[in-house]
Amino acid sequence: MTITVQRAAHKLLASLPSAFRTKRPAVEPVSMTKAPRTWTFTDTATGERKTFTCMPGCIDSHDEVRDGETLAEDIWCYRQSSDVTLPINDSGRPEELSVLRAMMNVDPFDRRIAHRLPHIDLEVMDGAWIEGLDPDGFATVISTLQGRVDELRAMHAELVAVRAAYQGQVAR
Ligand SMILES: [Zn+2]
Repeated sequence: MTITVQRAAHKLLASLPSAFRTKRPAVEPVSMTKAPRTWTFTDTATGERKTFTCMPGCIDSHDEVRDGETLAEDIWCYRQSSDVTLPINDSGRPEELSVLRAMMNVDPFDRRIAHRLPHIDLEVMDGAWIEGLDPDGFATVISTLQGRVDELRAMHAELVAVRAAYQGQVAR
């Protein structure tokens, strides 16, 4: 599945009122001992028989492959972090929007070879992605975010102190 389709699918989900969204259970850790599934299908673009083996921990049911023929480029294995939302105002009023959702993907027949290896697509905020992160790239993003969180914590301490001082000024 292309990132555009992922985005569209997620947009659709995000547009539903939160009461209609199913609560995703906590994500299970990947089992490296469980043998990954192997699939054979006919590529509808070329008529060729093709085979691929799932990424460890892939949670896609691969229904389209199970049917025996599909477009090879549409095949993708994935797992994802749990969904966390915050009330973000992106359109005039606060809405519960997904933040920092990470998807681990393999696109076994992608034209970009790097995407044929497990990589991370990170949804920074609803519909806005950093794509194709390898472990080094993902570590760089995590370090950047960690720096922001450290600064937010420092600002939180300032906020507590400034509020107390401000309230003291108002009471005077
Ligand atoms: Zn898979």
